[in-house]
Amino acid sequence: MTTHIRSTAAVRTPVLVAGAGVTGALTALELAHHGVPSTVVERSGGPSRFPDLQLVNGRSMELLRRLNLARRLRSDEVDPHRPVDVVLGREKTTVRLLPPATELEMSYAQSADGTAPLEPYLLIKGPDLIARLRQALHAHPLIDLRLRWTLTDMRSEPDGVAATVIDADTGRRHLVESAYLAGCDGTDSTVRRCAGLGLEPFGPPEAHFTVYFRSAALAGGRANPTVLITEDATVITGHDTDMCVAHLPLSADDQAGIGDPAGLLSSRLGLSADPPQIVAVVQRAGAPSIARSYRRDRVFLAGRAAHQPEAPRDDVDTSVGDAIALGWRLAAAIHGWGDDRLLDGYATERRRQAVLDHESDTRTDADRYDPAGTAGHRVPSFRLTGGEELLDRLGPQFTLADDTPGQYGWQLVTAARARGVPIRHLSVAGSPVPAAWPGRLVLIRPDQQVAWSADEPPADCDEVLDKVIGVRHRLYENT
Ligand SMILES: Cc1cc2nc3c(=O)[nH]c(=O)nc-3n(C[C@H](O)[C@H](O)[C@H](O)COP(=O)(O)OP(=O)(O)OC[C@H]3O[C@@H](n4cnc5c(N)ncnc54)[C@H](O)[C@@H]3O)c2cc1C
Repeated sequence: MTTHIRSTAAVRTPVLVAGAGVTGALTALELAHHGVPSTVVERSGGPSRFPDLQLVNGRSMELLRRLNLARRLRSDEVDPHRPVDVVLGREKTTVRLLPPATELEMSYAQSADGTAPLEPYLLIKGPDLIARLRQALHAHPLIDLRLRWTLTDMRSEPDGVAATVIDADTGRRHLVESAYLAGCDGTDSTVRRCAGLGLEPFGPPEAHFTVYFRSAALAGGRANPTVLITEDATVITGHDTDMCVAHLPLSADDQAGIGDPAGLLSSRLGLSADPPQIVAVVQRAGAPSIARSYRRDRVFLAGRAAHQPEAPRDDVDTSVGDAIALGWRLAAAIHGWGDDRLLDGYATERRRQAVLDHESDTRTDADRYDPAGTAGHRVPSFRLTGGEELLDRLGPQFTLADDTPGQYGWQLVTAARARGVPIRHLSVAGSPVPAAWPGRLVLIRPDQQVAWSADEPPADCDEVLDKVIGVRHRLYENT
């Protein structure tokens, strides 16, 4: 059948977000948190039907709490009263991977040294997570979500980006003009390809099968969400009745098995007495890789478009961090107080994080922080006098937490405001700051990271702001 594609007038938006997976949805919601409208185009009409299990760590949940999403997502979480187990090898040694989220929450609430996150991890089925995030996109007046719209092409222009998007329902081709384009369009990113941003392999290429199947034999005996790890398979079970998700590395000798996933599974998992019922199969090939650069001109990559871990490792927390980082920095550029260096900072900082996450043997869902709280790290949280959590007092803007007796941080706050930088001057004097609190004056970024700290006001406030935000801005120079 021939599809007739007709063109229509341009859609204009400050930021075009390609993809409404976790990364694209959160990028748009973070932009909206800073008052910046966006258009989100998403190729699919609904969330994936594959019930992947997503483990979102406590730090990511803190970031989602900023966006008022944490509680909403918890209404869909896999039973938080159950722990997560790992069963190793043919000997089936059971190891507790994570205690129940509710247990962690109670222990965090008793912690006052800044080492505990405000939120425990969240275990949630991927489709439920996406459905909730898309609900939030639909509900937000600053976000224009276009489902079944596919970005097919883009070109950089001096003042923005012009993208071609096709609406699958009408067959129309739309030109979308934006100041910035966020490529959150996943593994096979069209944005990455069109921007000519290559991937750097971080290991040998590998072929890999993900099989979704039902097996009462495998799932039945498991009271808790469980990761079964054998030499030739990783299986996740216990989160959705008898549904299981198996990740199978494939060797050249396994090619015959591709046509018979049930046989392959049975032989690897010893299920011959009770053959698995296959629901879906996804085959993937390629090396774990990270984009060589996350930025070209006004085009940015985030999430799976920028980094692809080896299966079955997941990178949802790296993706959440990307989305928040990209959102606030783009908002700063659009509002006019952030300059190019701030945007470059996104690319270098987040790429470095992806490399670190790739290299770390364990996931970053450790339930405790190193509370150092130095620049570049999450600010140690504590309860303010009055009982409110510090992190809950940090809005979308910068915050100067001031523990000096005379609120001496006012000079830095005034200098920031003169540049148009939104900043709150928050007195924490008299509050029980943790031992690891980095200084009497702590400048906190919108993503809750320490930007600068000292015990005394800086001799040159502009020097600090140049370092934190970028070179002096025109708005400042004109006043
Ligand atoms: C096949 C697969 C299996 C996964 N399994 C797991 C798992 O078991 N556990 C886990 O924790 N994580 C899993 N992940 C990762 C998980 O999805 C994470 O949330 C990821 O870190 C963040 O995804 P993302 O939003 O960057 O990309 P994706 O989740 O891939 O989302 C990209 C979105 O962009 C859309 N899109 C693509 N191209 C275009 C285009 N040209 N125009 C418009 N829209 C477009 C896609 O439809 C999709 O909705 C899996 C990812 C993939 C791709």
